[in-house]
Amino acid sequence: MTGSGSRPPEEADTAERERVAFLGLGIMGSRMAANLRRAGFDVVVWNRTRARAEELGAPIADTAAEAAAQAGLVITMVVDAPQVEEVLFGRGGAAEGLAQGALVADMSTIAPSASRSIGGRLAERGVGFLDAPVTGSKPKAEDGTLTIMAGGESAHFERARPAFEAMGTLVLHVGPQGHGSMIKLLNNTVAAVNTLAVAQALIVGRAAGVNAEALVRVMQAGSGASAMLDLKAGPMLEHDFDPLFKLDHMLKDVRHCLTEAEALGPGFGLGRAAEELYARAAANGLGERDFAAVIEAAETM
Ligand code: NAP
Repeated sequence: MTGSGSRPPEEADTAERERVAFLGLGIMGSRMAANLRRAGFDVVVWNRTRARAEELGAPIADTAAEAAAQAGLVITMVVDAPQVEEVLFGRGGAAEGLAQGALVADMSTIAPSASRSIGGRLAERGVGFLDAPVTGSKPKAEDGTLTIMAGGESAHFERARPAFEAMGTLVLHVGPQGHGSMIKLLNNTVAAVNTLAVAQALIVGRAAGVNAEALVRVMQAGSGASAMLDLKAGPMLEHDFDPLFKLDHMLKDVRHCLTEAEALGPGFGLGRAAEELYARAAANGLGERDFAAVIEAAETM
């Protein structure tokens, strides 16, 4: 495994900055593309809904193919494998414009098997591939402090590293294709389980009539501390579910992780229990809300 902290953009060698095509400008992609531009990268963007691309101020391509034809490094940041495949291999997709020797980095969270399959299809065209998902939500995407875990060839990682370092602080080459996706799914399933544990503690604390602020402060200072407690206890107490990370996306990640864990053998029992409640919240129309909304499903148990 190799990795690094971020270098100030001004230290990056401009010679290593190839043009980047950024495809997918949602909550995360829009902010990541903005950081690439801030770091001095020449970025061409494409988004299915063009209006969102216009907010960025970068050159906009009419199709993913047109964007890819102008770039050495193509980044996809969409939803799941079907969307990544559509953006790469669909009509007007990036594959129509990719030159031999180009490199694609998919930064969406998708299944490891899908990452490997996409990598194989691109290799047939002489195009490199990294699965390079991220952790850190909207605020870390905004200030360029994401964690980026890349699976694929070392040479490809080194080529993409300057771009990754413009978007993230901890940038790691974690192994072969698929391993970035696997590590990301495990991380998110732990976060999903942990968020649910926090939700249930808040619900029981309320039933016991304890002071919620005191409960949170004690847990933060004690062995109940976690990133999810820090990030989600406040929104859960206030029922403020303005999306930083959509519940539907969290459910997707937990389900991919369960598929892998069960196929590999060990399974992930706590993840399976969490899936039930995230699925219930999604069925109750909370999929587009932040995943902290899982507390609503826990409250109705
Ligand atoms: P989002 O806000 O829902 O954005 C999704 C993006 O995908 C939009 O640009 C959307 O285009 C595009 N898209 C959807 N379906 C498409 C299709 N069929 N063809 C082409 N483009 C399509 O999601 P996000 O929060 O940015 O998340 C993006 C990825 O990062 C997901 O894999 C997610 O799991 C992962 N992630 C998210 C977070 C987070 O905290 N938000 C953190 C880490 C990782 P339109 O604008 O046209 O809808």
